Order: sequence, then structure tokens, then C-alpha cells
Amino acid sequence: MSRIAAFFDLDRTLIDVNSAILWARAERRDGNLSLLQLLKVLYWAGLYHFSLVNAESTADMALAHYRNRSMLDLEHRARNWFHREIRHRLRPGARRALDWHQKAGHLLVLLTTSFHQAAREAAETWGFDAWIANRPLEDGQGRMSGACEKPFCYGAGKVARAEKWAENHRVDLQESYFYSDSYTDLPMLERVGNPRVVAPDPRLLRLARSRGWPVLSW
Ligand SMILES: [Mg+2]
Repeated sequence: MSRIAAFFDLDRTLIDVNSAILWARAERRDGNLSLLQLLKVLYWAGLYHFSLVNAESTADMALAHYRNRSMLDLEHRARNWFHREIRHRLRPGARRALDWHQKAGHLLVLLTTSFHQAAREAAETWGFDAWIANRPLEDGQGRMSGACEKPFCYGAGKVARAEKWAENHRVDLQESYFYSDSYTDLPMLERVGNPRVVAPDPRLLRLARSRGWPVLSW
């Protein structure tokens, strides 16, 4: 028998901010980014928010910055950062939705463009069954290669990654749910039988209304 999953986006859906901006600020504080690099991140994040930029090339640029750095060190810093800056930001309505789906016997899946290390920490802390995110690749000697696993988990890539996961876990996407705030997630919202739009951007709000999709504010 097939199962049902509830997929959740992270940034501006489960939490009320773009976590990449908080990460960049923390990196700046810790001396891992120059002021110019921080400003670049904020600039790109602004374009990203309005879907004005190619997310994959933006992530590639960010990862290039970490080439040859220790993967273990990144994991350690991501874990500390998550517990210091993200953990407490889970929106109350998101917690209620997670609990509701769990009681209904659905699988909880974090489906995010953010990087694997942060996604894993979030998933384990908030009680998810699985996470699907962007995994930076290792060079075989414990260092980051500067590249990212493909397909990139964004837009249509989120659908490809979710479909593969669903097939491996005998999950029926037509019976499943996806919660997101962003128009960039339209392909995945269309792929599941139960799209749920959360505090949407204006473009997604118009579309959700025209299609009769539930719009949540939490
Ligand atoms: Mg989002």
C-alpha cells in the first residue's frame, strides 16, 4: 500500500526568514566572509527572493567560496549555527501542521534549497522522517570540492528529487502535501495532490487564489 507524505519548504515557510542570509551574517561575524562578500550575498539573496536570478549558479558561486575547506568543519559550524540562530524560529503554525500530519500517519519530509548540513539538523531537531536538500560534494579527502550534487534541489529540480524519494519510499504524490511560500516552488506545488501555500509572495498568492488552493498564514 502506498503512503502519504507532507513535504515542507524551509525558508519563509517553516521559519520566517531566508536562512542563507543569517548564515552569511554569521560567517561574516566569524571572519569567514569579507564585508564585500557579505554584501554580495545579500544582493543575490534579494534577487533570489524575487526569482530574478538563477538559483543554481548562485549556489555554485557560494560553494566555490568553500572549495578545499574541511567538510567536517563545515558540518560542525552548521550544527552550532542552526541551534543558535534557526531552531527557535519554527513558526507555531508550522509546528501544529507537523503534529497534525504526524498524527495522521503521514511521513514528514523537509524539501529545501538550503544545504544538506543545515537541513539535516533541522529535520532531526523538528521530528521529520526525512530531508531532501542540496548536498555539497567532497573531494575524497574530506575537503569540499566546490560543487553540488545534481539535480539541484530548486524549482523543477525539487520535483525530480521528491519523485525519486517518493518512489523509493512508496509514497503517492497525488495523495501528498507540499507547503511553500514561493512562486519558485510552483512545479512541486503542481506535482502534489494537496498544495498548501503559506504566507505567499504576491505572484503565488494570485495564482493560489485563481486555482482555489488553500492559503495559510502562520
Ligand atoms: Mg521558501
